[in-house]
Amino acid sequence: MAAELAALRHDLHRIPEQGLEVPMTQARVLAALEGLGLEVTTGTAVGSVVAVLRGARPGPAVLLRGDMDALPVTEETGEPFTSEHTGFMHACGHDLHVAGLVGAARLLAARREELAGSVVLMFQPGEEGFHGARYMIDEGVLDAAGERVVAAYAIHVASSNTPLRVVTGRAGTAMAASDQLYVTVRGRGGHGSMPHLAADPVTVAAEIVLALQTVVTRQFDAHDPVVVSVGRVAAGTTDNVIPETAQLDATVRTFSREHHEAIPDRLVRVAENIAAAHGLTAEVTYERGYPVTVNDPAEVDRAERVTRAVVGPDAYETAKQPVSGAEDFAYVLQEVPGAFLFLGATPAGEDPATAPYNHSPQARFDDAALPVAAAVLAGLALDRLAEG
Ligand SMILES: [Zn+2]
Repeated sequence: MAAELAALRHDLHRIPEQGLEVPMTQARVLAALEGLGLEVTTGTAVGSVVAVLRGARPGPAVLLRGDMDALPVTEETGEPFTSEHTGFMHACGHDLHVAGLVGAARLLAARREELAGSVVLMFQPGEEGFHGARYMIDEGVLDAAGERVVAAYAIHVASSNTPLRVVTGRAGTAMAASDQLYVTVRGRGGHGSMPHLAADPVTVAAEIVLALQTVVTRQFDAHDPVVVSVGRVAAGTTDNVIPETAQLDATVRTFSREHHEAIPDRLVRVAENIAAAHGLTAEVTYERGYPVTVNDPAEVDRAERVTRAVVGPDAYETAKQPVSGAEDFAYVLQEVPGAFLFLGATPAGEDPATAPYNHSPQARFDDAALPVAAAVLAGLALDRLAEG
């Protein structure tokens, strides 16, 4: 079915949709699932699709997930099936995730007699910053089969870094948590020649920028990294005017649930109290992004075994370190054990080390990854359900 999955993927690639409502994509998913004998429902709060496949025999339920949304990127790949939605592109390969999950559904539907239990197929919108998985959990996706799923799996394709058709995984942290810190230092404006008559927010903001790095290195174990990057600094209009305010925006990445829990208070405390020490105030907003994506070690072992069995002995590699990006499948893995895996989709003939990475307008993904995604997802469900 490789050719059919590629055709579906190309169709999806032409119509990239961003966010929590992806009506054209949703319609194609519904059409692709027709005739497979699934119990299909669509989301109320978001444009999701949940399909339940019942095996011939009783048993537990497992979940397979594919995200459906695209990015606000203008495509520059030159692919024959290039985006027809100007300004939007499947630059993160979620079109392959949808096609791969449809492939898994077909493989599993054909093996219904072997299946002892149910498979929940989670077609999710709004992965790219819209918390789509959280909405679907709130709408009951984890209990869609009538009972809580015992395991959950997802695969993410990579347009570079990983060789084509190679699956990678690691026990524990697979991806970082990503939060945002916004600081407004509020002072009192004045003449740059007489700073003692003003309350300068610029010097205070500068001190906060450096102090945030001191929090990173003095308050957190060096073996469990924390990254704070101030990406935006804004204040003032000209050289000799002290402004009223100064603003800082930072991204905060953590790699353990413990540090993700601990870090907001510490960053907020430093910003507020440095401002207070100088007689100014700091208004600090800390926004939680996606939590840490944590893989269950036993499920990663299963992924390795299944991948080697269904794709080939060289088709699996252990990832040496987590990815610093964040992923909202983290919400699912907070609730149930499972594995989030990467799959190389670097175009054949290109060097994985230099190929354009996910989110690039030039990112290209090889269709040859599709049968691997379908087979590994189906294999994981079959293997877990066989365990009872
Ligand atoms: Zn993605």
